[in-house]
Formats: sequence, structure tokens, C-alpha cells
Amino acid sequence: MKWKTQIIRLETQKQFELLDLTSEIENEVYDSEIKQGICIITSTHATSSLIINENESGLKEDILNRILALAPDGENYQHNRIDNNARAHVIASILGTSLTLTIEEGRLVRGKWQNIFFVELDGPRANREVMIKIFGEK
Ligand code: ZN
Repeated sequence: MKWKTQIIRLETQKQFELLDLTSEIENEVYDSEIKQGICIITSTHATSSLIINENESGLKEDILNRILALAPDGENYQHNRIDNNARAHVIASILGTSLTLTIEEGRLVRGKWQNIFFVELDGPRANREVMIKIFGEK
């Protein structure tokens, strides 16, 4: 069993945004030379998430709008008494912070329209990190 760990560092620009990490993650899988295995992608923050879907500008807006509706603005969030970002925590806990993908013949198994997105919910932030852990056989 071989494994590789890599950290992708991100600087986000907006309070809420989707950043496509597909190429970076595919490059890490390629560099690992692992042909059969799994890739676990983890966002190490309480106010961001990871999702998989199509990278189309209108759809990205649709997804963000629906995600934000999970925890509407203006509600009486208790956490906002100490830190004004309760919505981000609530949404991140619903969406989750980790993805697992299969590696087959050296490539991530994903559909043509399935891209991997980091979901910023409390930006802009200068130091976001996503950990890529790749396990398998060369
Ligand atoms: Zn907080």
C-alpha cells in the first residue's frame, strides 16, 4: 500500500463562493502514480465544505443560492452572540467537509460533469486548506 498526503492552500475572494479544485486534485493523483486506490479530500475548517457538481456559471449560482437557503439570513442564531458566522457553521455541517473518490487506472472516477468544488461560506479568507490523501497500489 502506497500513500501520499498533500495540502492545497486557497485564498478566497468572496463571502460565499465555489472554487473548482478538480485540476489540482487530478494532478495530485497523477503525481502519486497510484493506479488503483482511493482519494480522500478534506476541508479542515468549520465554515467551508466540499461538493461535486457541474462547473457552469448559472448552475454555480443556483447551487449557492440553494445552499444559503439552508440557513437563511436574519434568523436568531445563538452562535452570532460570539462570532458572526453561524450560517456558515450550520451550512458546513449540513453539506459535510470530506469527499471520497475512487482511483481507477490512475484516474479519479468521476462523471464528465462532476467537478470538485471547495465551498467558501465565511470568506474572504487568506489561508484556507484542503488536504488530499491518496492511498492505493502503483
Ligand atoms: Zn464561528
